[in-house]
Parts: sequence; structure tokens; C-alpha cells
Amino acid sequence: MLSLRGLRRHYGDVVALDGLSFEAQEGRLLGFLGPNGAGKTTAMRSIFGLVEPDAGEVLWRDAPVDASVRRRFGYMPEQRGLYPKMPCAAQLSYFGQIHGMDRADADGAARRWLDELGLGERADDPVEALSHGNQQRVQLAAALVHDPELLVLDEPFSGLDPLGVASMEEVLREQAAEGRTIIFSSHQLDLVEALCDDVVIIHRGRAVRSGTIEAIRAASEQRRVEVTFEGAVDWT
Ligand code: ATP
Repeated sequence: MLSLRGLRRHYGDVVALDGLSFEAQEGRLLGFLGPNGAGKTTAMRSIFGLVEPDAGEVLWRDAPVDASVRRRFGYMPEQRGLYPKMPCAAQLSYFGQIHGMDRADADGAARRWLDELGLGERADDPVEALSHGNQQRVQLAAALVHDPELLVLDEPFSGLDPLGVASMEEVLREQAAEGRTIIFSSHQLDLVEALCDDVVIIHRGRAVRSGTIEAIRAASEQRRVEVTFEGAVDWT
């Protein structure tokens, strides 16, 4: 289980995380839902030590998350974290190696992932030659290449066309079915509802709801949370 406990982080006067606490159960797919600026990226970066919280802690299996634990995690950032000029296969192998794989294993896993995502023929092309959707897939593969115990994805659906969304959904479903622990952030309720076992709703740096998708839906209906035709939600 991953536990975020009482995370606080401010930037000047802006409170990005205001005592955020939630848990992600192993082998389940958790949707981290909230409007722009709610603190999703800051929370995810905290898991990876990319943001130093002012207070609070992040635990994996009841132990603090340090660099050696993080090597067993995979992170897909919202902003591109790829090297545009590097060939896809070399790039994935590189990510495998920085997560502790030896060269041969990383090369093999890189090719397997590219095949798996339908990009086998693009293995030697530089990332910048690929479409946005395909770059997003390579970014996903970079987070998965070392077979992480926990996969954290920041807005993996952003900017994808309907085919790209369907393909991303399929990979996440497959990975969840294989028992991987997955957290992904989104501000799209419909995607979270379609995919997730559990949901955490974050608003102004705090978890305002958390639970199974069924429990959240029932509570939302009771409280008459309005979902408009645009998918906008009353987050409070
Ligand atoms: P989005 O969906 O827009 O990415 P988010 O839920 O991921 O939003 P964060 O990016 O975590 O939210 O931002 C939370 C708050 O902290 C916002 O008000 C944001 O402007 C602020 N913030 C985040 N990073 C920084 C930073 N490096 N410097 C200053 N303010 C920041």
C-alpha cells in the first residue's frame, strides 16, 4: 500500500498541498481526480522526491519512500520527459538502466514494450518523429520498462485523440488486470469512472472524498453533485 500522510507544500502564498492524505491499495487502479490547480501534480511529484513537502510523509508498505524504493516505481510526468532526438528503443533502454536493469535486459524490455504498443517499426526513429499520441505511448513505456510495482501517471489522457484515449485505456486495463498498482490523475470524471476501482477527489490540496468508485458515486448522487454536459463537477 502507498500512503500519503498529511502532506503540506506551499509556494509563496499559494498552498498547493494542505494536509493531503490518502492510500492506494496494491493491485488496484486509483483515479486521482480534481480540477486544474488542485495539487495533483505536486502530490505525484512528492511521491518521487521531485517536490520536498513542508510536512507529512509518503510510505510504501509502511516504510518511508527513499531512492531505492523509487527505483521500483514508474512515473509518467505530464510534461514530456523524453529526449526528442534519441531513438525510441535506446530511450526506453536508458530508462530501464537508470532504474537498475542491466543493458541486455533493458534492451530486450524496450523492444518488447515497443512491440506491445504497436511501435515496433518505430524503434530506431527519434521520438520527435512520432505523433503526439505515439510519443505519449513511448512515455508510458518509459514508465513501465523496468516492470515497476507502482505506476503513477500524471494526466496520461491529456491531448490524446479518441483513438489514443482508447489505446491508453486498454493498456491501463491490461496493466491493472496483471495486478499492478496504478494511480493516474485526471480532471475527467468519465475516464475515471470507466477505468478505476478507487477514487480520490482532491480540491485545494486536500482529499475531499476517497473510496471505491461505487461508494463515491452513491455519495455523489446523494449529495446531488451535478455533472454538467461538459463534465464539470462540483468538487466540494
Ligand atoms: P493541473 O491539472 O493544472 O496540472 P494540478 O492539480 O496538478 O493542476 P498543481 O500543478 O499541483 O495542480 O498545482 C497546485 C497549485 O500550486 C497551483 O495553484 C499551482 O499554481 C501551484 N504551483 C505548483 N507548482 C508551483 C511552482 N513550482 N511554483 C509556484 N506555484 C506552483
